[in-house]
Amino acid sequence: MAGSLKTEAVVLRTIRYGEADRVLHLYTPQRGRLAAIAKGVRRTKSRFGGRLEPFFRLDLVLYEGRSELLAVTAAETVHPHARLRGHAGALDGAARACDAVGRLFADGDPHEGVFHLLANQLALLDADPSRATRANALAFRLKLLLAAGFAPQLAACAACGDADHVVGFSGAAGGVVCAACEASAFPLAEEAHVFLVEALGRPLAAAPDASPRALAQAERAILETLEHHAHVRLRGVGVVG
Ligand SMILES: [Zn+2]
Repeated sequence: MAGSLKTEAVVLRTIRYGEADRVLHLYTPQRGRLAAIAKGVRRTKSRFGGRLEPFFRLDLVLYEGRSELLAVTAAETVHPHARLRGHAGALDGAARACDAVGRLFADGDPHEGVFHLLANQLALLDADPSRATRANALAFRLKLLLAAGFAPQLAACAACGDADHVVGFSGAAGGVVCAACEASAFPLAEEAHVFLVEALGRPLAAAPDASPRALAQAERAILETLEHHAHVRLRGVGVVG
């Protein structure tokens, strides 16, 4: 199985390794999350320059041998996302997006849509760092749930199917619930329900906004869905600057 793998990738995070190397956690369209070592990358004269850094979108050639780690043999920048690095809020939003992708998906669990969603989020934050709002971060997470197959049921009570008397949200039930089925639910106001539906249905660039109270409820719905169905606990989306 030794050979070269040519792939696009987004760098999720990097870890110093040995004297001059770095291990990269990458997300790729066809292979999903994978780890690769970049040898000598921390030397000043590295042929990789400064491009093997978090949030870079790259064209990579990886050598796949017997080791668990692939090795980077060539790297070209597709998009450096340089502008978002100068804005605390956008940087934080990018870090949370990469962290969520890295923790929600294991190695060898590829979702091409997740790659495009992440690349799109980074491009949006880079083009306009003021987009790094709480609503944007929640819309991203909701779309990530959809890509992973864990999107909450929002059209009718997840327990009994009643579409008219939805009053709460239950991560255990898998979505919104009616008054008769609300046992493990928390209250979900109509505004929060509408936010969830619109954030899921619209392109990321056209994500809706809502009041802080509605966003807090939407965030709780997303976190509970992640915990119940993906067994992942993410940090909140509290937004810096
Ligand atoms: Zn019900």
